[in-house]
Amino acid sequence: MTNRLSEIARSKGIRYFLISFTDLFGVQRSKLVPAESIDAMAANGAGFAGFATWLDMTPADPDILAIPDSASLFQLPWQPDVAWMPADLYTMNSQPVEQAPRLVLKRVLNQAKKLGYSIRTGVECEYFLLSPDGNSIWDLRDRSSKPCYDQQALMRGYELIREICNGMLTLDWGAYQNDHEDANGQFEMNWMYADALVTADRHAFFKYMVKAIAEKHGLRATFMPKPFPHLTGNGCHTHLSVWDTALSTNLFRDEQGELGLSPLAYQFIAGVLHSAEALCAFSNPTVNSYKRINAPVTTSGATWAPSTITYSGNNRTHAIRIPDVDRFEFRLADGAANPYLLPAALIAAGLDGIANKRDPGPRYDNNSYTDPLPSDRVKQLPSNLLDALRSLKANTVLPQALGERFVAAYLKLKHQEWNNYSSCITPWELENTLDC
Ligand code: ADP
Ligand code: MG
Ligand code: MG
Ligand code: MG
Ligand code: MG
Repeated sequence: MTNRLSEIARSKGIRYFLISFTDLFGVQRSKLVPAESIDAMAANGAGFAGFATWLDMTPADPDILAIPDSASLFQLPWQPDVAWMPADLYTMNSQPVEQAPRLVLKRVLNQAKKLGYSIRTGVECEYFLLSPDGNSIWDLRDRSSKPCYDQQALMRGYELIREICNGMLTLDWGAYQNDHEDANGQFEMNWMYADALVTADRHAFFKYMVKAIAEKHGLRATFMPKPFPHLTGNGCHTHLSVWDTALSTNLFRDEQGELGLSPLAYQFIAGVLHSAEALCAFSNPTVNSYKRINAPVTTSGATWAPSTITYSGNNRTHAIRIPDVDRFEFRLADGAANPYLLPAALIAAGLDGIANKRDPGPRYDNNSYTDPLPSDRVKQLPSNLLDALRSLKANTVLPQALGERFVAAYLKLKHQEWNNYSSCITPWELENTLDC
C-alpha cells in the first residue's frame, strides 16, 4: 500500500493536496485537502457545483466529482508542503463529464492509440512580467526596440527566472533554456517534449507556477495573447510528433521525405490546415487572441505570429513551421489556449488528415510579412473570435472527435463571451465616432 497518497504525503512532507481541474475557459478550480482526508477524497472524488465554473451546467444539476490523477502529482517547488494533482470530472453516477477538457484530450488520445499512435508534444509558453496592477511591464529599464535575448534585461529578472527554472528541474521536466523574448518584459522558458497528456498537465501547472512565483516576488505574470498593441504577443507554439505506441519510432521521420518528414507527417499537417479556421476557436480562444494574429508590425520589426493558413520549412512567418526532421511547430496558438483543448483539437485535426490521406498542398518559403501571398491563393485566418466560432460550428471533423456535447457547450459559452464583449462601448468607438 505504499502508493496511498497519505503515505506519499508522510514521506515527502506534504500537508495539503490541491485537487485541481481546468474548466472550459482554462480556469483552474481546486479544493485544498489536508493529508488526513486525502485517501478517502481521492477514492470518492472532491465535490464541486458545476454551474459555479465554466462547464455549461445549471444550478439545478447534481454535483460533479473530481477524481485526482495521483500518477500526475506535482509537489509545489515554491511551497513543498502542498502538492497539485490534475483531476478528471465524473457525475454522481460515475459517468465522465464529457465537456471536461482533460477528458476531451484523453478521448482524442485514445482514438490515436486505437490507430497505433502515441502523440508527443512540447509547448513554448511565453509570458510577460508586469507590475502588480497589470498596467506596465515590471522592469522600466527594459525599453530596447529589439529586446529579444537581451542579456542585461534577462539577468535583471534572474532571481525570479531561476526560481521557476529550478522548479522545473526539481520536477524533472528536462528544462533546458530560458530567455528574454521579443517584447519588452517578455520571457520564455523551455522544457522537453513528452507524451501529450504529460505535457498538458505540465503546461497547466507551469501557468500556475509562473503566476504564483511572480506573485511571491511582488509581481504579476500574464499569458494574455496581446497585452500591449505595439509589442509582440504571447504565443504558445506547439511542437508535435507521432510515434508508435511502443515509443520506439518517430513516425514523422523519413530520410527520403521532403525536409526529412514522412508522408504521414504531411497528411497530419494537411489535416491541421484543413480544419485551421475551426481550430482557432481553441488555439486562439479569446477576443484578445485576434489582436496577436493578423497584426500590424510591432516595434521589434515583426509580430512572429502568422497571418495565413500555410506551412513552411524553417521559416517563422507561417502558421506551421517545420524546424527539424522530427516534428512540426504549430505557431498559431497563443497564451490563452487551454492546455488540454489546444492539443486535443490539434491532434483531432491531424488524425483526420491521416484518415483521409489529405494533401497539404505546396510549401511556401516566402517572408509572409514583407512578401505576403495573395489572398486568393491561400486561406486567411479568422479575423475575430466570432469568425472562429462560426468556423467551428461549420466544421465536420472536430465535433465528432472531441465530442458533440463538449463542442456544443464550448460554442454556447464562447458565444456568450463574444456577446458580452460586443455589448461594451469601447474607447475607440467614442474617440472615432462620437462626433459622427
Ligand atoms: P523554437 O523557439 O525554435 O520554436 P524551442 O526550443 O523554444 O524552439 O521549443 C521547442 C519545443 O519542441 C521543445 O518543447 C522541445 O522539447 C519540443 N520538441 C523537440 N523535438 C520534438 C518532437 N520530436 N516532438 C515534439 N516536440 C518536440
Ligand atoms: Mg458549501
Ligand atoms: Mg522558443
Ligand atoms: Mg518564443
Ligand atoms: Mg517556437
